[in-house]
Amino acid sequence: MTRTDGYRLYACPHCDKVHVGLNYVSFNFMAFENWSDGRSYQSLYDSRQGLHRCVGCEDFFLKSEATFMGSIPGWRSRISQDDTELDIQELIRRQNADLTFFDFSWINDLIYPLKSWLNPSRFPQKKSKKQIAREKKEKEDAKQLLAEEELKKDLEAYPWFSYAQDSDLKHIIDNKTNYSDDLLRSARTLYWMYLNDAYRTSRKYTHGEKNLSLEEIPEFVPTAEQTENMLALIELLKSDEFVLKTRIGELYRELGDFDQAIAWLDDGSDSYQEKETILTLARQKIRAPVKIVYAHQRR
Ligand SMILES: [Zn+2]
Repeated sequence: MTRTDGYRLYACPHCDKVHVGLNYVSFNFMAFENWSDGRSYQSLYDSRQGLHRCVGCEDFFLKSEATFMGSIPGWRSRISQDDTELDIQELIRRQNADLTFFDFSWINDLIYPLKSWLNPSRFPQKKSKKQIAREKKEKEDAKQLLAEEELKKDLEAYPWFSYAQDSDLKHIIDNKTNYSDDLLRSARTLYWMYLNDAYRTSRKYTHGEKNLSLEEIPEFVPTAEQTENMLALIELLKSDEFVLKTRIGELYRELGDFDQAIAWLDDGSDSYQEKETILTLARQKIRAPVKIVYAHQRR
Protein backbone atom coordinates (compact mmCIF):
# COMPACT_ATOMS: atom_id res chain seq x y z
CA MET A 1 0.00 0.00 0.00
CA THR A 2 1.29 3.47 -0.83
CA ARG A 3 1.25 5.64 2.28
CA THR A 4 2.40 9.19 2.90
CA ASP A 5 3.12 10.99 6.15
CA GLY A 6 3.51 14.75 6.02
CA TYR A 7 5.65 16.66 3.57
CA ARG A 8 9.31 17.20 2.75
CA LEU A 9 11.12 20.30 1.54
CA TYR A 10 13.72 20.15 -1.21
CA ALA A 11 15.86 22.93 -2.69
CA CYS A 12 16.66 23.08 -6.41
CA PRO A 13 20.38 22.32 -6.93
CA HIS A 14 20.61 25.10 -9.56
CA CYS A 15 18.91 28.08 -7.83
CA ASP A 16 18.08 26.92 -4.26
CA LYS A 17 14.34 27.47 -4.74
CA VAL A 18 12.57 25.39 -2.09
CA HIS A 19 9.75 23.05 -3.18
CA VAL A 20 7.42 20.92 -1.13
CA GLY A 21 6.47 17.31 -1.88
CA LEU A 22 4.68 14.41 -0.19
CA ASN A 23 6.72 12.28 2.18
CA TYR A 24 6.25 8.67 1.07
CA VAL A 25 6.68 6.10 3.81
CA SER A 26 5.72 3.02 1.80
CA PHE A 27 5.14 2.17 -1.83
CA ASN A 28 2.85 -0.09 -3.72
CA PHE A 29 4.56 -1.09 -6.96
CA MET A 30 1.41 -2.46 -8.50
CA ALA A 31 -0.06 -0.77 -11.55
CA PHE A 32 -3.12 -1.38 -13.68
CA GLU A 33 -1.01 -1.94 -16.79
CA ASN A 34 2.71 -2.70 -17.14
CA TRP A 35 4.80 -2.80 -20.31
CA SER A 36 8.15 -4.46 -21.02
CA ASP A 37 9.86 -1.06 -21.46
CA GLY A 38 8.77 -0.07 -17.94
CA ARG A 39 5.82 2.11 -18.94
CA SER A 40 3.01 1.67 -16.43
CA TYR A 41 -0.47 3.10 -16.27
CA GLN A 42 -2.43 3.99 -13.13
CA SER A 43 0.48 3.13 -10.88
CA LEU A 44 0.75 4.28 -7.28
CA TYR A 45 4.42 5.21 -7.30
CA ASP A 46 6.72 7.68 -9.02
CA SER A 47 6.84 6.44 -12.59
CA ARG A 48 8.66 9.63 -13.69
CA GLN A 49 12.12 8.34 -12.70
CA GLY A 50 12.53 11.08 -10.08
CA LEU A 51 13.00 13.72 -12.79
CA HIS A 52 11.75 17.16 -11.75
CA ARG A 53 11.52 20.65 -13.19
CA CYS A 54 12.25 23.67 -10.97
CA VAL A 55 9.40 26.16 -10.57
CA GLY A 56 11.97 28.96 -10.13
CA CYS A 57 14.73 28.63 -12.76
CA GLU A 58 12.78 26.01 -14.81
CA ASP A 59 15.87 23.82 -15.06
CA PHE A 60 15.80 20.07 -14.44
CA PHE A 61 17.10 17.98 -11.56
CA LEU A 62 16.67 14.59 -9.93
CA LYS A 63 15.08 14.36 -6.50
CA SER A 64 18.29 12.65 -5.35
CA GLU A 65 20.25 15.75 -6.46
CA ALA A 66 18.01 18.23 -4.60
CA THR A 67 18.98 19.43 -1.12
CA PHE A 68 16.74 18.17 1.67
CA MET A 69 15.66 21.18 3.76
CA GLY A 70 13.39 19.65 6.41
CA SER A 71 9.89 18.28 6.99
CA ILE A 72 6.40 19.62 7.55
CA PRO A 73 4.21 17.30 9.65
CA GLY A 74 0.77 16.40 8.26
CA TRP A 75 -2.42 17.22 10.18
CA ARG A 76 -2.78 13.70 11.56
CA SER A 77 0.58 13.70 13.30
CA ARG A 78 -0.10 17.24 14.62
CA ILE A 79 -3.20 15.90 16.37
CA SER A 80 -1.71 12.63 17.56
CA GLN A 81 1.10 14.57 19.27
CA ASP A 82 -1.60 16.25 21.39
CA ASP A 83 -3.10 12.84 22.14
CA THR A 84 0.18 11.54 23.55
CA GLU A 85 0.33 14.48 25.97
CA LEU A 86 -3.23 13.74 27.09
CA ASP A 87 -2.40 10.07 27.50
CA ILE A 88 0.44 10.88 29.88
CA GLN A 89 -1.85 13.12 31.99
CA GLU A 90 -4.43 10.39 32.07
CA LEU A 91 -1.78 7.85 33.10
CA ILE A 92 -0.63 10.00 36.05
CA ARG A 93 -4.24 10.49 37.18
CA ARG A 94 -4.85 6.75 37.08
CA GLN A 95 -1.63 5.98 38.96
CA ASN A 96 -2.71 8.37 41.74
CA ALA A 97 -6.16 6.83 41.81
CA ASP A 98 -4.65 3.36 42.24
CA LEU A 99 -3.07 4.48 45.53
CA THR A 100 -6.45 4.55 47.29
CA PHE A 101 -7.08 1.10 48.70
CA PHE A 102 -10.79 1.42 49.07
CA ASP A 103 -12.68 3.01 46.25
CA PHE A 104 -16.11 4.21 47.30
CA SER A 105 -16.62 6.45 44.26
CA TRP A 106 -19.42 4.13 43.05
CA ILE A 107 -21.52 5.24 46.06
CA ASN A 108 -21.05 8.85 44.98
CA ASP A 109 -22.03 7.95 41.42
CA LEU A 110 -25.14 6.28 42.77
CA ILE A 111 -26.38 9.12 44.98
CA TYR A 112 -25.30 11.97 42.68
CA PRO A 113 -28.61 12.17 40.72
CA LEU A 114 -30.43 12.47 44.07
CA LYS A 115 -28.12 15.30 45.26
CA SER A 116 -28.50 16.98 41.91
CA TRP A 117 -32.29 16.82 42.18
CA LEU A 118 -32.20 18.28 45.70
CA ASN A 119 -29.60 20.99 45.02
CA PRO A 120 -29.12 21.57 41.26
CA SER A 121 -26.94 24.69 41.64
CA ARG A 122 -24.36 22.91 43.81
CA PHE A 123 -24.57 19.54 41.97
CA PRO A 124 -25.27 20.35 38.32
CA GLN A 125 -26.83 17.57 36.28
CA LYS A 126 -24.27 15.26 34.78
CA LYS A 127 -24.05 15.02 31.02
CA SER A 128 -25.40 11.95 29.27
CA LYS A 129 -23.00 9.58 27.54
CA LYS A 130 -24.41 10.70 24.22
CA GLN A 131 -23.80 14.36 25.09
CA ILE A 132 -20.21 13.58 26.18
CA ALA A 133 -19.55 11.66 22.97
CA ARG A 134 -21.00 14.50 20.89
CA GLU A 135 -18.88 17.11 22.65
CA LYS A 136 -15.78 14.93 22.25
CA LYS A 137 -16.43 14.59 18.52
CA GLU A 138 -16.98 18.35 18.16
CA LYS A 139 -13.72 19.00 19.97
CA GLU A 140 -11.87 16.53 17.73
CA ASP A 141 -13.37 18.03 14.58
CA ALA A 142 -12.33 21.52 15.70
CA LYS A 143 -8.83 20.24 16.44
CA GLN A 144 -8.58 18.67 12.99
CA LEU A 145 -9.81 21.84 11.31
CA LEU A 146 -7.25 23.90 13.21
CA ALA A 147 -4.45 21.46 12.33
CA GLU A 148 -5.51 21.52 8.68
CA GLU A 149 -5.50 25.33 8.66
CA GLU A 150 -2.07 25.44 10.29
CA LEU A 151 -0.81 22.93 7.72
CA LYS A 152 -2.26 24.94 4.84
CA LYS A 153 -0.41 28.03 6.06
CA ASP A 154 2.86 26.08 6.39
CA LEU A 155 2.50 24.68 2.86
CA GLU A 156 1.49 27.97 1.25
CA ALA A 157 5.04 29.28 1.44
CA TYR A 158 6.33 26.71 -1.08
CA PRO A 159 5.53 25.68 -4.64
CA TRP A 160 4.84 21.99 -5.30
CA PHE A 161 7.56 19.73 -6.55
CA SER A 162 6.68 19.10 -10.20
CA TYR A 163 7.80 16.41 -12.59
CA ALA A 164 9.46 17.00 -15.94
CA GLN A 165 6.97 16.41 -18.76
CA ASP A 166 7.43 14.26 -21.86
CA SER A 167 7.69 17.48 -23.90
CA ASP A 168 10.78 18.48 -21.82
CA LEU A 169 12.77 15.33 -22.57
CA LYS A 170 14.11 16.23 -26.00
CA HIS A 171 15.42 19.54 -24.64
CA ILE A 172 17.30 17.72 -21.85
CA ILE A 173 18.83 15.19 -24.27
CA ASP A 174 19.82 17.93 -26.75
CA ASN A 175 21.62 19.75 -23.90
CA LYS A 176 23.11 16.65 -22.31
CA THR A 177 26.43 18.29 -21.39
CA ASN A 178 24.54 20.30 -18.70
CA TYR A 179 23.38 17.22 -16.83
CA SER A 180 24.69 14.28 -14.81
CA ASP A 181 24.68 10.71 -16.13
CA ASP A 182 22.08 9.85 -13.49
CA LEU A 183 19.73 12.54 -14.79
CA LEU A 184 20.31 11.56 -18.43
CA ARG A 185 19.61 7.92 -17.55
CA SER A 186 16.20 9.00 -16.19
CA ALA A 187 15.49 11.32 -19.12
CA ARG A 188 16.46 8.75 -21.78
CA THR A 189 14.42 6.03 -20.02
CA LEU A 190 11.35 8.29 -20.10
CA TYR A 191 12.08 9.26 -23.72
CA TRP A 192 12.32 5.60 -24.70
CA MET A 193 8.86 4.94 -23.19
CA TYR A 194 7.49 8.15 -24.70
CA LEU A 195 8.65 7.27 -28.24
CA ASN A 196 7.26 3.74 -27.81
CA ASP A 197 3.84 5.25 -26.99
CA ALA A 198 3.18 5.66 -30.74
CA TYR A 199 3.47 1.88 -31.12
CA ARG A 200 1.22 1.35 -28.08
CA THR A 201 -1.41 3.66 -29.56
CA SER A 202 -1.45 1.90 -32.93
CA ARG A 203 -1.59 -1.53 -31.24
CA LYS A 204 -4.56 -0.39 -29.16
CA TYR A 205 -6.18 1.01 -32.28
CA THR A 206 -5.98 -2.31 -34.14
CA HIS A 207 -6.33 -4.81 -31.26
CA GLY A 208 -8.00 -2.96 -28.41
CA GLU A 209 -7.08 -3.86 -24.84
CA LYS A 210 -7.03 -7.66 -25.17
CA ASN A 211 -3.93 -9.73 -24.43
CA LEU A 212 -2.35 -10.98 -27.66
CA SER A 213 -0.82 -14.33 -28.56
CA LEU A 214 2.78 -14.21 -29.90
CA GLU A 215 1.54 -14.49 -33.51
CA GLU A 216 -0.87 -11.58 -33.09
CA ILE A 217 1.72 -9.06 -31.79
CA PRO A 218 2.08 -6.33 -34.46
CA GLU A 219 5.56 -5.70 -35.85
CA PHE A 220 7.73 -3.03 -34.23
CA VAL A 221 10.35 -1.09 -36.17
CA PRO A 222 12.09 1.68 -34.21
CA THR A 223 12.85 4.97 -35.97
CA ALA A 224 16.41 6.32 -36.25
CA GLU A 225 15.68 8.60 -33.27
CA GLN A 226 14.43 5.68 -31.18
CA THR A 227 17.46 3.56 -32.10
CA GLU A 228 19.88 6.37 -31.21
CA ASN A 229 18.18 6.92 -27.85
CA MET A 230 18.06 3.20 -27.01
CA LEU A 231 21.77 2.71 -27.80
CA ALA A 232 22.73 5.74 -25.68
CA LEU A 233 20.52 4.44 -22.86
CA ILE A 234 22.21 1.03 -22.95
CA GLU A 235 25.62 2.73 -22.45
CA LEU A 236 24.25 4.80 -19.55
CA LEU A 237 22.70 1.72 -17.91
CA LYS A 238 25.94 -0.25 -18.23
CA SER A 239 27.87 2.58 -16.52
CA ASP A 240 25.46 2.64 -13.55
CA GLU A 241 26.53 1.25 -10.20
CA PHE A 242 23.41 -0.93 -10.17
CA VAL A 243 23.18 -2.43 -13.65
CA LEU A 244 19.55 -3.17 -14.61
CA LYS A 245 20.16 -6.32 -16.63
CA THR A 246 16.53 -6.94 -17.53
CA ARG A 247 16.18 -3.40 -18.91
CA ILE A 248 19.36 -3.74 -20.97
CA GLY A 249 18.08 -7.11 -22.26
CA GLU A 250 14.77 -5.50 -23.21
CA LEU A 251 16.53 -2.66 -25.07
CA TYR A 252 18.63 -5.14 -27.09
CA ARG A 253 15.49 -7.14 -27.86
CA GLU A 254 13.64 -4.07 -29.15
CA LEU A 255 16.72 -3.20 -31.22
CA GLY A 256 16.53 -6.70 -32.76
CA ASP A 257 19.85 -7.86 -31.26
CA PHE A 258 18.38 -11.07 -29.84
CA ASP A 259 21.73 -12.74 -28.99
CA GLN A 260 22.75 -9.79 -26.80
CA ALA A 261 19.27 -9.69 -25.28
CA ILE A 262 19.41 -13.37 -24.31
CA ALA A 263 22.97 -12.97 -22.96
CA TRP A 264 21.81 -10.17 -20.60
CA LEU A 265 18.60 -11.90 -19.56
CA ASP A 266 19.63 -15.56 -19.28
CA ASP A 267 22.30 -15.02 -16.64
CA GLY A 268 21.22 -17.68 -14.13
CA SER A 269 19.80 -15.14 -11.69
CA ASP A 270 16.34 -15.44 -10.08
CA SER A 271 13.42 -15.91 -12.41
CA TYR A 272 10.53 -13.46 -12.38
CA GLN A 273 7.58 -12.67 -14.62
CA GLU A 274 9.03 -9.64 -16.43
CA LYS A 275 12.37 -11.29 -17.20
CA GLU A 276 10.79 -14.57 -18.35
CA THR A 277 8.35 -12.76 -20.67
CA ILE A 278 11.11 -10.72 -22.32
CA LEU A 279 13.40 -13.78 -22.61
CA THR A 280 10.67 -15.85 -24.28
CA LEU A 281 10.06 -13.06 -26.80
CA ALA A 282 13.80 -12.70 -27.52
CA ARG A 283 14.02 -16.44 -28.23
CA GLN A 284 11.04 -16.13 -30.58
CA LYS A 285 12.79 -13.16 -32.29
CA ILE A 286 9.94 -10.76 -31.49
CA ARG A 287 11.09 -7.18 -30.87
CA ALA A 288 7.86 -5.31 -30.07
CA PRO A 289 7.26 -3.79 -26.61
CA VAL A 290 4.60 -5.93 -24.91
CA LYS A 291 2.31 -5.82 -21.93
CA ILE A 292 3.58 -7.79 -18.95
CA VAL A 293 0.59 -9.75 -17.68
CA TYR A 294 0.96 -10.85 -14.07
CA ALA A 295 -0.93 -13.82 -12.64
CA HIS A 296 -3.48 -11.60 -10.88
CA GLN A 297 -4.20 -9.75 -14.15
CA ARG A 298 -5.04 -12.78 -16.32
CA ARG A 299 -8.47 -12.49 -17.83
ZN1 LIG B 1 15.94 26.18 -9.78
